[in-house]
Amino acid sequence: MTEPEIFDVVVVGSGAAGAMAALRASDQGLSVLIVEKAQKFGGTSATSGGVMWIPNHNLNHEGDSRAQALEYLGSLCTDVGQHDRLEAYVDQAPEMLRYLTATGVKVIAANWPDYFPDKPGARADRSLICPTFDGRELGEQRYPLMREQYNRFKLFGRYAMDLTETFTLMARAKGWRSTAARILRRYWTDYDTRRISRRDRRFTQGAALMGQIYKQLFGRGIEPRLDTSLESLLTETNGRVTGIAVSNFGRTYEIHARHGVVLAAGGFEWNQELRDRFYKVPGLTRHSSTPEDGNRGEALIAGESIGASVEHTGQGWWIPTMNLPAPGASNFHEIHQAAFDVGRPHSVCVNRNGVRFVDEATGYDSFGQAMVEDQLKTGANTPCWLVFDATFRSKFSAGGLMPSIVTPDRKIPSDWWDHYVFRADTIDALAEKIKVPQDALKDTVSKMNEYARVGIDPEFGRGGNIYDRFFGDATVSPNPCLGPIEKPPFYAVPINNGDLGTKGGLRADARARVLDKDCEPIPNLYAAGNCSGNPFGSIYPGAGGTIGPALTFGYVAANDIAARAGNQRGTATQQGN
Ligand SMILES: Cc1cc2nc3c(=O)[nH]c(=O)nc-3n(C[C@H](O)[C@H](O)[C@H](O)COP(=O)(O)OP(=O)(O)OC[C@H]3O[C@@H](n4cnc5c(N)ncnc54)[C@H](O)[C@@H]3O)c2cc1C
Repeated sequence: MTEPEIFDVVVVGSGAAGAMAALRASDQGLSVLIVEKAQKFGGTSATSGGVMWIPNHNLNHEGDSRAQALEYLGSLCTDVGQHDRLEAYVDQAPEMLRYLTATGVKVIAANWPDYFPDKPGARADRSLICPTFDGRELGEQRYPLMREQYNRFKLFGRYAMDLTETFTLMARAKGWRSTAARILRRYWTDYDTRRISRRDRRFTQGAALMGQIYKQLFGRGIEPRLDTSLESLLTETNGRVTGIAVSNFGRTYEIHARHGVVLAAGGFEWNQELRDRFYKVPGLTRHSSTPEDGNRGEALIAGESIGASVEHTGQGWWIPTMNLPAPGASNFHEIHQAAFDVGRPHSVCVNRNGVRFVDEATGYDSFGQAMVEDQLKTGANTPCWLVFDATFRSKFSAGGLMPSIVTPDRKIPSDWWDHYVFRADTIDALAEKIKVPQDALKDTVSKMNEYARVGIDPEFGRGGNIYDRFFGDATVSPNPCLGPIEKPPFYAVPINNGDLGTKGGLRADARARVLDKDCEPIPNLYAAGNCSGNPFGSIYPGAGGTIGPALTFGYVAANDIAARAGNQRGTATQQGN
């Protein structure tokens, strides 16, 4: 029998948390292997917007501080449980960023308001993005193996867009036509790449982040082992984790880890059983906007089977989504995020009683939390309805339904009507079609029209803070988030409580060590990213609030393993002496 392979560190999952853990561990002189279940590497992280929320990042010199970050988080995060983990985040995230940029990864500070802009300590400069990266720097064989970006982040599902281009096209802002033309021209005049692949060499957003990190990993000789899934954790009788058992095309084998196993296998959003177990309103796996072949909670299950505890598993990183069919596509391409659409003027969201339940322009996670609360209260939410008029329809997307200037009603396939998209000439007739009480919907719409006229939403304060207005329509006044819903025809699309992943997982401490039921670390076992409970509890503090912690606790885990490995080496030497 051949001896099992052995590495200093074995990392499960190739997303942001796993890639960072591997990179840092390698730079600490440890041998590393990443195993990845999917056929492509990069995880949800590569499909994402790639935004990182890093408080006190010091890229500019305008005075964020540890104290201000903790003031903001302290005012919000009342259910964190482990305050030292929250503090570790505030302390280690800037350290992680310094390390990351020192390796050559480029980042840019964005002016994105924190999601609770009225809370003390809030700022509008903690979110970071990455400049576009040339994917071919990864090598011709490798670059098409990075997971493709989320469909809506590519024009026509094919041409890469950076965040500015995405928002320009989404909102049909000034210059959107020339932006679209530039994107197409750039792709089709890249003759050299067109000869070898359909894949755009422009890696933007999450692909830019992960592309840059993988360039560093490849440069250090670390290649993710694809098609290789964690099956179980190997332990000694004293509970110390010694490695993992994996499967690869049906073949099962063991890989041993001298100093640590880092579980970075994402959340459990694609595991209906775990949703049913943990969530008050479970929702459906297929409403998630993450890749369907990825995160199914296997690492959480493996951890629990050796005595690990879990935390913050009651919620996803919520985002409103809607379905539109895409012939021949997987779920990933049928699900469309509607995060910013639900707060645009000339629209309103109602539950199935025809009643509003939220400031629709709030952050997407808060929107989802409001859906859950309303469902628990009324039983008439999840899904709710986005109702809008012809003015909205001409200007804005509604999930996957592009503005009428791009996709006029006559181009909508007949089977979509009254199934994915509902349309009627009056609010009464629309209410009848979507089975919402007519009087209630009419009353809601007429109140919204009055709020639009005066510019104030006395019920939920829509458009009342800088975050709301950030995604409003500057051409609409007095409130860029409120426009009358008055121009027929009227439309409605069902909105699901979708997600970007799950908020909770294995309980890990401030050093990313997985804890057992007595809150004792399980020797040699670490968790980071959505595989672990997030440091903020139920709160999504700002854009990048999931990737920031994923990178940070991947970094923290590697540092802790390296420190212990050093200690162990030191001890061995002393013993040897
Ligand atoms: C469209 C979209 C946009 C988003 N934009 C942002 C954003 O801009 N900023 C932000 O902070 N968050 C964003 N998110 C959320 C964010 O992408 C995730 O929360 C984050 O990437 C999770 O990182 P991770 O490393 O924990 O997991 P992932 O990146 O999902 O990586 C986990 C990896 O583990 C692998 N895996 C799973 N099970 C196993 C197994 N048994 N064995 C081996 N491997 C396994 C998976 O295949 C996957 O590759 C977005 C999400 C989506 C869908």
